[in-house]
Amino acid sequence: MSSSTNPLWEYFHRGEKQNSAQYETWCKGCVKYYLDKEQRELEERIRNEDEAKKYQEQQKAFKEACIAAGSVRGEETAFITHLLGSHRNKTQQECLHASDEAKVEAKRQREQGTSSTVHAQGKTTALKCQISALVDTPGSLSEPSSSPASKKLRQTHLKTYNALQMPFSDSEVEALQAQALRAQVSSKSPETLFEDQEMLKFIGMLRKEAIHIMPTAKVLGGRLLTAAAATVEKKLEEILRGQVLGMS
Ligand SMILES: [Zn+2]
Repeated sequence: MSSSTNPLWEYFHRGEKQNSAQYETWCKGCVKYYLDKEQRELEERIRNEDEAKKYQEQQKAFKEACIAAGSVRGEETAFITHLLGSHRNKTQQECLHASDEAKVEAKRQREQGTSSTVHAQGKTTALKCQISALVDTPGSLSEPSSSPASKKLRQTHLKTYNALQMPFSDSEVEALQAQALRAQVSSKSPETLFEDQEMLKFIGMLRKEAIHIMPTAKVLGGRLLTAAAATVEKKLEEILRGQVLGMS
C-alpha cells in the first residue's frame, strides 16, 4: 500500500526523510502525551513573552516531545508494531497513548496478513521512492515546490522539523478562537468573517511582522483601490479592443 494512502499515516507526524525512501515519523498520541505533560509549565513560563518568543518556545517544546516519544520508521509495519506491540519481541509493548481508532486500524491491517506488505516492499520500492519525492511533503513549505525531485532528495537532510505543520494544542486553539471572536466583534465584521475564502487565504499568508505592513483605511480605500480599479479598467479595455478587432 502506498505511503500516501495508508490510513495509518494519519496517526503519525511526518518529519525528515531518513534515506531516499523512508521518513522519520512520530506517533501523534505519544507526542501529544509528552507535550501535554509539559504544557502547563510551558504556558506559565511564556505567559508574558511576545508572540515570536511564544512560538519559538512552543516549537522547541514540540521538538522535545518528539525526542521523548522517540521516532518510528515511516512505514506501515513499523506503525503497526508501535501501535500494537510485537509478538516476537516482548520488550516492544503496545503504545499507551495512541487513540483506539489508530489501534483498531492497525489491528485490521495486521489481521489482513502480511502478503500485501511483502509484495509491496519488493519491486515497488523504487517507484515509492520516486512518488514520495514528488509528493508535496508538509515539511517542504520552505522550499519552492517547483524544485526538481533530485534536488529535493539531496536537500531533505538539511531541513529541520517544520513548525508550520505543528498542530495547535488545545489551549492554543482556545486562545486563537477567543481572539477571533474579539477581532470579529471589535471590527464589526459579520460572523462569517472567517468563512470567507479570501480572508482565509489572507490569514494563511501572515506572520508576526505582518502587523507592521497592514494597510490603513486610507491606503486600502485610496491607493490600493485605485490601483485595483485601474487594473480592471485596463483588462476591460483589452477585452473590448479584442472584440472590436474580432468584429471588423
Ligand atoms: Zn505511540
